[in-house]
Amino acid sequence: MHFNEYIDSQKDRFLADLARLVKVRSVREDATADHPYGDGPAKALDEAIAICAEHGFDMKNLNYHAGETDLGEDPALLILAHLDVVDEGEGWTKPPYEMTEEDGKLYGRGTMDDKGPALAALYAMEAVRECGIKLNKGVRLVLGCAEETGSEDMEYYFKNRPALPYCFSPDAAYPLIHLEKGRFAPYFSKSWDAVNIIPRIMRIDGGTTPNIVPCKASAVVLGLTAAQVQPVCDAYKEKTGANYVLTEEFNCEGGVCCKKLVITAEGAAAHASEPYKGNNAQTALLALLGALPLADTPCTQAVAALNRLFPHGDTAGETVGIAMKDDISGDLTFNFGVLSMDETGCTACFDSRVPVCANKENVFDVVAAALQKEGFALHEDAHMIPAHHVPKDAPIVQTLLSVYEQYTGEKGEAYAIGGGTYVHDIEGGVAFGCEMPGVDYRLHGADEFADLDTLLLSAKMFAEAIVRLCGE
Ligand SMILES: [Zn+2]
Repeated sequence: MHFNEYIDSQKDRFLADLARLVKVRSVREDATADHPYGDGPAKALDEAIAICAEHGFDMKNLNYHAGETDLGEDPALLILAHLDVVDEGEGWTKPPYEMTEEDGKLYGRGTMDDKGPALAALYAMEAVRECGIKLNKGVRLVLGCAEETGSEDMEYYFKNRPALPYCFSPDAAYPLIHLEKGRFAPYFSKSWDAVNIIPRIMRIDGGTTPNIVPCKASAVVLGLTAAQVQPVCDAYKEKTGANYVLTEEFNCEGGVCCKKLVITAEGAAAHASEPYKGNNAQTALLALLGALPLADTPCTQAVAALNRLFPHGDTAGETVGIAMKDDISGDLTFNFGVLSMDETGCTACFDSRVPVCANKENVFDVVAAALQKEGFALHEDAHMIPAHHVPKDAPIVQTLLSVYEQYTGEKGEAYAIGGGTYVHDIEGGVAFGCEMPGVDYRLHGADEFADLDTLLLSAKMFAEAIVRLCGE
């Protein structure tokens, strides 16, 4: 029997196995003595180990960081998937942890990210074994338990287990990702003594997540009226494209009452890897504040400094001096995404996705010097994660793309992304599947789903890849 036929014959079993994995709410929780990522991910690994045993695979438990099982001796190919999921969030119309099948779509948290693809890899290995295909080199399946929360599982794994010559992870999208930009997203801060003169800024609340372009940001200003500020808002709406909303409140401190003005800027959200698709409300707010007739306080000075470093509309890091690009990865992108300021200081963070040509000298040092010049200090743990790149002519890239073309009839082309995948820190690793181009599987959202056909097709492609990379 060809392994394609074998995989088709296992459809019902595949559905039953996937339902078992989806049933476990494998969301990270606090560590316990034996479970580094809490009980949920550990339970999912126990279930995966039980499923593997039923399929004749002995999966080793690496202290609940990951599971590992081999087909054949002397493994050369590592397939990496994960069992943890992000929490269900809100808005589901189907039960998130009871897999529901509807018109070939399998609904449930983790069906596509990444329990379905993990099972597809296991079924591929079983199909190769059951069809009696001889392997020259072995294949190793690793199922991690902490991909969604920073991939500490892989830090642990590679401290204890060897890297293999070939590695792919079905935890992203077809055809194949060969380049992931690096990331520099440092926190920095400054503190000062409060001063009591007006008009002054009392606080600023910008974005809270570095990897999102803030769609809302607000400031509280003491001693200016809406009537005074409105004309400036009108002028800055033209300049920034953001909307400004003013609300007046009365503030009474120590028997002195004056007007407190809340200024809210409204822009448009986007992912930090594509900041030019949004409109940053935080930088739009700072631009406006910089134009108000405020007293010369430390807050006013900090706003001016932030406007000098990260002006509204600069999504390339031009002004701070790190704009750069290269032919294989494209432009550096820049998002000033987090800011919290009160009368005694501020903490902020930007998120920059850096091309292959970025290094400590041309990015980290440049930013550190620019911040220092304005009196801000980088937090101690600030560091740059370099880009990840596997050349397009590498055998793993060529082989997987040719398998993809054979099975889908579509052109297989490697592409670059601004985000990071599970293989970001694994030398030579690529992301292959299982999302088909152009389909929104609602990963991390409500009503996440997988296509049964896509998962079975993926199992066939993985089997073919195993045979081509490890076969005789
Ligand atoms: Zn994932």
